[in-house]
Amino acid sequence: MPDVAYITSPLCLLHEADHPHPENPGRLAAIQAAVRAATLYSELEIHDAPAASLGDINRAHSAEYIALVQRAANSGKHVMLDPDTYFGPHSWDAALHAAGAGCLAVDLLMNGTAVRAFCAVRPPGHHALRDGANGFCTFNNVAVAARYAQAAHGLERVVILDFDVHHGNGTEDIFAGDENVLCISFYEDGLWPRGLGEVPPLGDNCMNLPMPRRCDPEIYHQLMRDKVMPAIAAHQPDLIIIAAGFDAHRDDPPGDKLHSDPPGVQLLTDADFSAMTRTLCEFADSHCHGRVIAMLEGGYTHAVLAQSVVVQLETLAA
Ligand SMILES: [Zn+2]
Repeated sequence: MPDVAYITSPLCLLHEADHPHPENPGRLAAIQAAVRAATLYSELEIHDAPAASLGDINRAHSAEYIALVQRAANSGKHVMLDPDTYFGPHSWDAALHAAGAGCLAVDLLMNGTAVRAFCAVRPPGHHALRDGANGFCTFNNVAVAARYAQAAHGLERVVILDFDVHHGNGTEDIFAGDENVLCISFYEDGLWPRGLGEVPPLGDNCMNLPMPRRCDPEIYHQLMRDKVMPAIAAHQPDLIIIAAGFDAHRDDPPGDKLHSDPPGVQLLTDADFSAMTRTLCEFADSHCHGRVIAMLEGGYTHAVLAQSVVVQLETLAA
């Protein structure tokens, strides 16, 4: 059984809006309670996330954007970084530790302490653009981790697979045209931030997979077999990072402008997330020393999200 690191930070619970918001501390609190109560908890390597350095952040984000966030932090007030992305008095610490979790995950995998890692952190990251906040995301945690793996450990080739219900537009923005990083994003066709239909990727290294609303989960698995895994094999990654949003779960309504729609916009279950993750882990076991890092993105129905994370940990540990 591979050693699995579970990385989180109490500071990530302090990132809070001054108005009701679907991306709230209750998400992580529910995850923490469920993980601590899970049978496998005693087998996990538990770690506190350190703060990422500004140099770590700067590999994925422009200095101008980092300075803008820093000014927001220095104001000590609640501000909006973009129309969707709140930032409060504790958000700077939370964002730095969310990004730092991914860097620690890379360190633990590379120094042999763990083979896989799950980072239970917020704010989420995959919408954050090189030059700006977007869609509840301050810093792009998976992007910071990928760049850290390259810079601090000399890994060259990384795959980022995103199964959040929303397109990983920030990750695509940061890595478009970078042949060393293959970005694959499943997302619901037509859902924010993308329009309906085929949207050409920003670079040849980006694979966008729009999924019809309420589609049969088997379509995800077909795409994994026919398109995703061949592309990953061709990429020959040294590390696989999962942007693990669980808002495509059949019991989780999307946390965006369609929030009032009935739940079940995508119909995935924990078994489907598990099957996709298992496929990635098996590939990693035979091709890149088992190295898989999963970082929390979306998922807004607390009890459902918490259970998804427990199953994700079980899968990483299997
Ligand atoms: Zn999402």
